Amino acid sequence: MAWVIAIAAALLLAGVWIEHRRARRLAESIAAVRRHAAEIERFRAITQSLLAGQELTGTLQAVATAAGDLVVADSGYITLCDPDTGALTVAAATGSTGAWVGKQIPRDGSVAGWVTSHGQPALIHDLSQDTRGFREANVQTGLKREVVVPLRSHGEIIGAIGANRTADMPTFGHHDVALLERLGDMAVLAIENAQALDHSRRARAGLAAKNAELEEALRTKSEFLRNMSHELRTPLNSIIGFSELLQSGSAGELNEGQREFLTTAIRNSRHLLQLINDLLDLAKVDAGRMELQLAPANMRALIEGVLEDSRGLLAGHQLQLAHEITTGPVTVVCDDVRIRQVLFNFVSNAVKFTPDGGEITVRATRTAAPLPVPAQRASDTARLKTRPAVWIAVSDTGPGIRPEDMPRLFQEFSQVDSSTSRKSGGTGLGLVLCRRFVELHGGTIGAESVPGHGSTFWMLLPEDGPLRLGDAYARAGEGGS
Ligand code: ADP
Repeated sequence: MAWVIAIAAALLLAGVWIEHRRARRLAESIAAVRRHAAEIERFRAITQSLLAGQELTGTLQAVATAAGDLVVADSGYITLCDPDTGALTVAAATGSTGAWVGKQIPRDGSVAGWVTSHGQPALIHDLSQDTRGFREANVQTGLKREVVVPLRSHGEIIGAIGANRTADMPTFGHHDVALLERLGDMAVLAIENAQALDHSRRARAGLAAKNAELEEALRTKSEFLRNMSHELRTPLNSIIGFSELLQSGSAGELNEGQREFLTTAIRNSRHLLQLINDLLDLAKVDAGRMELQLAPANMRALIEGVLEDSRGLLAGHQLQLAHEITTGPVTVVCDDVRIRQVLFNFVSNAVKFTPDGGEITVRATRTAAPLPVPAQRASDTARLKTRPAVWIAVSDTGPGIRPEDMPRLFQEFSQVDSSTSRKSGGTGLGLVLCRRFVELHGGTIGAESVPGHGSTFWMLLPEDGPLRLGDAYARAGEGGS
C-alpha cells in the first residue's frame, strides 16, 4: 500500500514539475514575443524619422538617437570618416556622449576607429579593460559597455554607429550587434538621401541667386540700351532730316561733289538708325516688354505687300522675284507688322546676297507641325504640340552658307561672311530679331543651304497664334506630341 502512495506522490510531483516548466517556457516565449514586438515598433518609429526627408544634421541626430533607443542604451552616436583625410568625427550623439559632437576621435585609440579600420563590429563588456578604447573619455562619462558596427556605402566604410551603457546596465549581446547592423543599412540610405537633398537645396538656392543676378543684369542692359537708343535716335533723325533737306536743293544748289558726300552721309545715318532701332527692339523683347498686336492676318496679302515693298531693293539688280502661295485662304493670328518685318528681312537678305541673274522665290503653304509649348517654370522640360501652321520660306540662288556657319546665323552680331555682309551693309541683328519675333508667336525659324546653290530661310507660324500660358497646358494635353 505504502509503495502505491509513494508512486502516486511521485507522479503528482512530476506532473507539477512539468506544468511548472511548461508555464516558465510559455512566460519566456511571451516575453520574447513582447521584446520582438517592441523592437519592431522601435524600428517602425526609427524608419519613419529617418524617412522624414530632413536635412543632413537632422538625419544624423535621428540616427544617433535611434542607435541608443534600439538597444536600450544610455547613449547612441554616429561617427563619419572624412572622404579625403580619413579623419573620424562624431557627427551626432545622445546621452552621456552628447558632448562629443563635432570632436575628432583618433583612429588608433578609439573603438570606433578600430571598427572603421577593421570593418568588423566590436562588443565590449568593460571599456576599462579594453585596450582599443578611448579610456579617459569613458572614465569621465562613466560608460562601461559599448557596441559599435561599421557603416558601409557601396562596399566602402564611411563611419560607424555605436551605443554605450553604464556599469549598472546589462552587457550588450550579439543580438544588439545585429540590431545596429540593420539600423546601419537604413542609416546609410537616409544619410545619402539627406546629402542629395542638401546638395539640391544648395544648388537650387545658388541657381535662384544666379537667376536674380542675371535678371538684374538683363534689366540694366535693357534699360541702358533703351536710354541710349532714345538719346541717339533724336539727334540722328534730325541729322537725316536736315541732310535730306540739303540734298533736295531747297537750301541752295549743291555741286556734284557735295551731293555725293551728302548721299554717303545719309546712307550711313540710315544704317546707324536701323542698328539703333534693331537694338531697341531686341532690348524690348529681352526685357519681356514687346507686346504683340495679335489679329487674324491674310498671309497672301501680307506676302504680296512685302514683295511690293521689296521692288525698290531690286533697283540696279538683275533678279527675278516670284511667289508660290497655296490655294485657298491662308490666315494666321499674328502681329502683322512684326511678321512683315521678318519676311522683309528674309527677302532683303536674299536680294543682298544673290548675284545678278539669280532668282528669289517666296513660298507659303498650310501644314501641321510640332511647335513649342511655353514653359510654366524654368524647370519644365521643353514640350511640343502638333498644331495647324503656315510655312513661309524665301529661297534664293545666291552663294549659300557653309555648314559650319549655320549655327551662328541667328546669333547677335554674327555676319557669317563678313566681306559680302560688309559690302552689302547690314547690322548682323536682323535674323536675331526675326527669331525672337517668330518665337514670340509660338513658331519656329530655320535655314537650309547648299553652298554654291543658294539658301532657304523659313518660318513656321501656328495658325491660331501663340498659346497663352494658362491655356498652353490645357490645350497641350489634347493631341500633343
Ligand atoms: P545683316 O543685317 O548683317 O544681314 P542678318 O542677321 O540679317 O544680318 O544676317 C546675318 C548673316 O547671315 C548675314 O550677314 C549673312 O552673312 C548671312 N545671311 C543671311 N541671309 C543670307 C542669304 N540669303 N544668303 C547668304 N547668307 C545670308
